[in-house]
Formats: sequence, C-alpha cells, structure tokens
Amino acid sequence: MSYTMRVLQHAISKNPNEPEFHQAMTEILPTLQPLIDEHPEYEKASILERLVEPERQIIFRVPWVADNGEIRVNRGFRVQYNSAIGPYKGGIRFHPSVNLSIIKFLGFEQVFKNSLTGLPIGGGKGGSDFDPKGKSDREVMSFCQSFINELYRYVGADQDIPAGDIGVGGREIGFMYGQYKRLTGQYEGSYTGKGLTYGGSLVRTQATGYGLIYMVENMLNTLKTTFADKTAVISGSGNVAIYAAEKAEQFGAKVVAMSDSNGYIYDPQGIDLDAVKEIKEVRRGRIHEYLKFRDSAQYVENGLIWSVACDLALPCATQNELLEDGAKLLIDNGCIVVAEGSNMSTSLDATHMLQQSGVLFSPGKAANAGGVAVSALEMAQNSSRISWSFEEIDCMLRTIMHEIYAGSYAAAEKYGMKGNLVAGANIAGFSKVAEAMLAQGAV
Ligand code: NDP
Repeated sequence: MSYTMRVLQHAISKNPNEPEFHQAMTEILPTLQPLIDEHPEYEKASILERLVEPERQIIFRVPWVADNGEIRVNRGFRVQYNSAIGPYKGGIRFHPSVNLSIIKFLGFEQVFKNSLTGLPIGGGKGGSDFDPKGKSDREVMSFCQSFINELYRYVGADQDIPAGDIGVGGREIGFMYGQYKRLTGQYEGSYTGKGLTYGGSLVRTQATGYGLIYMVENMLNTLKTTFADKTAVISGSGNVAIYAAEKAEQFGAKVVAMSDSNGYIYDPQGIDLDAVKEIKEVRRGRIHEYLKFRDSAQYVENGLIWSVACDLALPCATQNELLEDGAKLLIDNGCIVVAEGSNMSTSLDATHMLQQSGVLFSPGKAANAGGVAVSALEMAQNSSRISWSFEEIDCMLRTIMHEIYAGSYAAAEKYGMKGNLVAGANIAGFSKVAEAMLAQGAV
C-alpha cells in the first residue's frame, strides 16, 4: 500500500466519528502521491503523519448569560493545525453544527489554502456550537466575551490570528477583539476582519467573494471565454455569497439564484443585490423576504438551488451542499464552471462526476483563499501602522488569485493531471509546508 494510503487509513482509524475530517483527508492525501514519489525524504521524516495531526487542539466551556437571566453553556474549539510557514491563521465559526470533526476538516484545509496564498501564515480554525441567529446584540456580546475569556491565552499577533467564518462577521469580531484587548492590554493585529475604525483593512469584507470571482475569471480565460452573457447561481446569502454576486455582476454575469438554509430565490431578471444586502446585512432576515422587493422572483422552500440552469455554479454556503444529484443537474443543464466559495462544498463523488463531465472545477482551498489573503494583508498593515487604499488591496488580491490559479494549474499539468485543480492545489499547497517542516526538524 502506498505511503499516502497508509497514513490516510491510520488517521481515519485513530480519529473515529469525524466524517468531515475523514472526507478532507481522503480528498487531499491520495493526490499528493506523485510528489511523495519524487521526495522519499518526506516519508523518512514522517511528514504526512505529522501533517494530519494538529499541533494543538483546545476545547473549552463557554458559559454566558441570556437576556432572561438564564446561564447557557456552549462548547468552544480552536485547532492550531500547523505553524511551519507562519503563525496559525483561520476563521472562527459559530453554528449549531460545529463539532471537533468540522473544525479539524476546516483547519486541515486551511494549512494548504494559506500556503497557496504565498503569504507567511500557518493553518488553524476555531468555533463554537453557539447559534447567533435570533440572539440579541447583548447576548452575542456576552457569548463572545466569554469565548475570549478562555481563548485569549492561546492567540496573539505572532501566535494565532482568528478571523470570521459562518456566523462570525464584523459585530462578533468587534466583541471578541474588544475583550482580548481588555484582558491583555495589547492593541495589536491579533484578529482580522476588524472594523475600519480600529485596524481593519479595506476589501476584507469583499475579499472572499471578490477573490472567488477573480478565480473564475482565470478559469474562464482557460476556457477561452468571459463573464459576458453568463448566468450564475450562487448558494448562500452571507458574506461570501453577497460579494461574489457583486463582483460577478460587475464583470457582466447575471446572478439568477441565491439561498439560505430555508430555501432559494430565483429571479430571472437578475438578483437585486441591494435588496439582498438590506435583508441579510441590515435586518438579519430570511431570503424569502426578497419576494417583497421583486415581483419577478420566486421562492422555493427547501429546494435544490442546483436545479436552476446556469453556466457558473458557485456554492457559497457550507460543506457538502453540492452532492451527486446537484452535480448531475448542473451537468445536464450545461454548466461549465464550478468554483467553491464555501469550504468542501462538494462531496468527493460529485467532484469526480463534474470533473469527468468536463466541468472545470476549483476547490475551496484555492477559490476562496482571497479572504485569508486579505487577512494577511490586514496583518501586514497593522504591524507597520499603515493603511493601503481599496484599489491597492483589490489589485493585490486579484494578483494573488491569479497566482494561486496559475500555480495550481501548473502543478496539475506537471504531474500529468492537466485541468485537475483539486490535485494541483493540493500539491502546490503541500510542497511549501513539507519543505518548511523538513527544514525545521522533527521536534
Ligand atoms: P455567513 O454566515 O455570512 O453566511 C453563510 C450562508 O450560508 C448563509 O446564507 C447561511 O444561511 C448559509 N448556511 C450556513 N450553514 C448552512 C447549512 N448548514 N445549510 C444551508 N445553508 C447554510 O458565512 P460566510 O459567507 O462567511 O461563509 C460561507 C462559506 O464560506 C463557509 O463555508 C466558510 O467556511 C467559507 N469561507 C468564508 C470566508 C470568509 O471570509 N467569510 C473565507 C473562506 C471561506 P442561514 O442564514 O439560513 O444559516
């Protein structure tokens, strides 16, 4: 049995009941075999055994006080996965589904993604099973402060730098950063996604969504076409989905469907993004409220958004949201590009189906790396006490996404897998981390 398969089997048996983590390892490890064959020193130094084991996993109690005076208890996580190329960096997710398996899959992916950006950041991820939906601002603040009362010991500007993810936006980062500052007395770049008045970076809000569309720009270039006259379907209606839709429209595509966890809206005239922003960013409402803004729209409760015909399919909600049934519909309807805004949006079987049908597919670790890339630029601005302009950062983001695409494409081609951006991104991301681990010795 090959080295990659042995490590995969062992890691799965050592970490039972962690299906999302198993899925992430199964997607990544086998694709590294060609590079491993070229570098026998990696096996000698047990690089893969070390890579799959997080450097540190922190699980903690988060008690907080609800508005009615009751004390509630949630569970907090931070998985500091790999610091070979820089301090741990990765988002915090607040969602009732959060557990160790989900945080480990996200952290493992983050190691490769952060390496792909070309910036000096290691991988980590955190979160809690706390559900911010329906909570008052005071309750969210109470929870965030309690979360940081424990986490502040393990994070810091050169140690571990959290950011947002599902359920964590500007409001939550503000509360967490404020508490970190109170406890440590440090005004430093220890979180990214901060508000612009206290160290945040321009473009960070837009970065993941814009970056995704810059990735699609490169993919369309390879297919010798452009956004003009293309129809896009974007799942989700959170941070990533909204700014992907904004940039796709700026580039000339028509976004016809978006969703939340209750259903999707279809608007053949093209989604009115101001309406979606008003519903989601201002009112924190539900996507079906869109019907009040546009007569041309339909709402499909619990429907499968991938049944809407499109050229470009951009899953931007959560993991495993695009399965075989969705992939089949996309293929039958003539979709040419699938790029993941969410992490591990697509199951392994669905990914293979899309690739085998000739759909150009980009995995999240490459396609959604724009968010963490601009986070690293926020860190750079914080440590040098300067602020770059929107245009400067947007230009850097576009260049970084181009380099991620080019690097992933070239790596796949080099190992005889032309057009397989999954394998290419894994190999390109792994290579730098493996070399750094080797150089730093085995302690
Ligand atoms: P938000 O919380 O802003 O939005 C999430 C969206 O996805 C909402 O519309 C939400 O609907 C929907 N959603 C979440 N969970 C589920 C679920 N279990 N089933 C169906 N729909 C769901 O999160 P982001 O936009 O920040 O993140 C979206 C994805 O992008 C995640 O996978 C995240 O890891 C990834 N990502 C985010 C980055 C960032 O910078 N924010 C960077 C890189 C990746 P509802 O409101 O109904 O829950």
